[in-house]
Amino acid sequence: MNPQCARCGKVVYPTEKVNCLDKYWHKGCFHCEVCKMALNMNNYKGYEKKPYCNALLLEGLEGYWDQYVPSGLMQPSLLE
Ligand SMILES: [Zn+2]
Ligand SMILES: [Zn+2]
Repeated sequence: MNPQCARCGKVVYPTEKVNCLDKYWHKGCFHCEVCKMALNMNNYKGYEKKPYCNALLLEGLEGYWDQYVPSGLMQPSLLE
């Protein structure tokens, strides 16, 4: 039995599976929530079970974060 993709809801087959954040994703569906950059197991940052890119979380993202993430959430510097 194959799991469903956390992004698109379609079945994920083993060849295209990414197991991250307690969910399964198609490789193509595992991208940054904000900028849509493709991610992999080595460069993603998880936050509230969603993947974000390093660039977004570590660099110049103050405006970015305020703009895209609802207020009241932790600042990215507190992640990990
Ligand atoms: Zn998918
Ligand atoms: Zn990003």
